Amino acid sequence: MPLQALGLHNRHHGRGGGGLGLAFNPANYLPDDAIEGADYETLLALGERVGEVKQRGLDGRTLAGLPTKIYRAPWQNVSDDSRCAVCLEDFQDGEELALLPCLHAYHGVCVRTWLKGNGVCPVCRLEVKL
Ligand SMILES: [Zn+2]
Ligand SMILES: [Zn+2]
Repeated sequence: MPLQALGLHNRHHGRGGGGLGLAFNPANYLPDDAIEGADYETLLALGERVGEVKQRGLDGRTLAGLPTKIYRAPWQNVSDDSRCAVCLEDFQDGEELALLPCLHAYHGVCVRTWLKGNGVCPVCRLEVKL
């Protein structure tokens, strides 16, 4: 039977401009959606991995549960540090501080921003779990 009678030659005409040689390459017979599907799976797996990394930070509910304290000089906290290790500013009277379980204190705003990306104390790296 002549090959032309199978219709393969005409079906794949224009898909790369090749002649019969290209038409008989098995790769040309793979459905496009099979290849795209594999890419999608790969992207999906990648996205899940990124998601896991993000989960190292704390969520808003946990952050809201951090004990807070209004700073008043002289600082009576167990920590002897009277400045915020995140922004490196001294604490001022009346500022809201957040205390981590390790008793390190920071500005509430500063440490919440930090903890969203990193679930650990900026100073001692203790994992913050509430
Ligand atoms: Zn600060
Ligand atoms: Zn700490």
